[in-house]
Amino acid sequence: MVRQLQMTDQISAVADALRRARTIAAMTGAGVSAASGIPTFRGADGLWKKTRPELLASREGFEQDPRLVWEWYDWRRQVIRDARPNPAHDVLAAWTRQPGFTLITQNVDGLHEKAGAERLIRLHGSIWHVRCWQPCDAGRRDWRDDTAPFPALPPRCPHCGALMRPGVVWFGENLDTEDVAAATAATRCDVFLTIGTSSVVYPAAGLVGQARGHGATTIEINPEVTEASDEVDIAIRGKAEDVLVAIDAVL
Ligand code: NAD
Ligand code: ZN
Repeated sequence: MVRQLQMTDQISAVADALRRARTIAAMTGAGVSAASGIPTFRGADGLWKKTRPELLASREGFEQDPRLVWEWYDWRRQVIRDARPNPAHDVLAAWTRQPGFTLITQNVDGLHEKAGAERLIRLHGSIWHVRCWQPCDAGRRDWRDDTAPFPALPPRCPHCGALMRPGVVWFGENLDTEDVAAATAATRCDVFLTIGTSSVVYPAAGLVGQARGHGATTIEINPEVTEASDEVDIAIRGKAEDVLVAIDAVL
């Protein structure tokens, strides 16, 4: 009962802050897609409980065993292909149609786009994009490839026959500088929400602190305590798909 009341108060406080704000930024992580059946990495049921991330999501891992890396991405692409956006994606997509709202995601699953989000900053790329590993001239830039599963692994570049790689940002790789600049600019806002992320992967995890430094009201939505929990003004311990719907309902 006490918890319920506390959560209701928090939701009203967030709704008040959002109503007053002229500029709002929200950053999402894998937790936002958990209700769509896509496993997270580091949450209680996270994938990294069973595997070492650097083996599957790094240049070194790919060099060592491209087939193993592609088996993992091919499996994830099949899970994601059948997934539908959940109410958290729907609420955020609606908010992106309001002026002054910026959505930043670490997710590579494409569910924000499927829900109709506009002006999305995709910090870690897209699992639906591929490019040439060499790279050859024609395969230097990402392109979309919806094949899932691939008939043979690892898949080959259609331009030159070399290996193809997923168009996601791996551990140790740099983020796209334009995306980082856009996300950094968005931290100059009145309200910054960090939703469904464990807040351990930088530079994404640093954005909430930057927003706070610029005087934003900072809000976290996550059922678990994270690295960001102590840093934010309001930490709501709940699921994104429940809390965002509750906030949207009182706005
Ligand atoms: P993470 O797996 O490290 O953390 C997920 C967080 O979500 C945890 O803190 C967990 O408590 C929380 N969570 C679980 N269920 C939730 C729910 N229903 N509502 C709200 N929060 C919930 O994920 P991350 O912080 O995004 O990790 C960053 C890296 O993982 C990124 O590089 C990202 O590209 C990658 N990733 C992406 C996807 C995806 O695209 N769906 C999935 C897994 C990992
Ligand atoms: Zn090529």
